Amino acid sequence: MVEENIKKVRENMEAACKRAGRDIKDVTLIAVSKTKPVSMMEEALQTGVLDFGENKVQEILEKKPLLPDNVRFHMIGHLQRNKVKQVIDKAVLIHSVDSLRLAEQIEEEAKKKELHADVLLEVNVAREESKYGFFMEEVEEAVKEIGNFPHITIKGLMTIAPNVENPEDNREVFKKLYQLYVDIKSKNIDNGTMSVLSMGMTGDYEVAIEEGATMIRVGTGIFGTR
Ligand SMILES: *Cc1c(COP(=O)(O)O)cnc(C)c1O
Repeated sequence: MVEENIKKVRENMEAACKRAGRDIKDVTLIAVSKTKPVSMMEEALQTGVLDFGENKVQEILEKKPLLPDNVRFHMIGHLQRNKVKQVIDKAVLIHSVDSLRLAEQIEEEAKKKELHADVLLEVNVAREESKYGFFMEEVEEAVKEIGNFPHITIKGLMTIAPNVENPEDNREVFKKLYQLYVDIKSKNIDNGTMSVLSMGMTGDYEVAIEEGATMIRVGTGIFGTR
């Protein structure tokens, strides 16, 4: 089932890229495996998926030793500062940097471990009460400050769009984040390190690709309901 689902998702990605005049090589599929067993992740691996998204540090710690070393874990959920230490050398990219304080903690732990952390800044584009992330107007300042941290590289921006029935309802959210991303890149405040736009989930990844996503995070559409 996982294999067929991934095939379908790839077909949809291909079609969305075609509509937008984009190359599918510029869009990375992250299989969101939270709450799902390693056996299902192995099925995904068989199809060539190497990027997995998790929202709990504990789950990354448990699953990582059971999978090949070339599997890449993406931390996509809200990260508590006291968990940074455990995940910083396990995740290839932290998508969910949602405050300056969290970034400071990541800087501190990265320095201690003498490594470099790649992160995305999470943006609450739709200003939802229930969501984490910077507001749009706060992002430039955050990029300026966090961009100065020697052990962090800001790779781009991420958003979790509202839960909607019709994916078209999120097009404006994706357009806004893309525009912000382009604006910040053009100002070059991050020394040109921004190349990732993580947006789009099972319900709306095709629209997100049409609007410029370079990473999509698909859970239900690959592993079924949670
Ligand atoms: C769970 C989750 C996803 C995947 O959601 P689906 O609707 O199952 O595709 C994507 N991004 C984040 C941040 C998540 O927590």
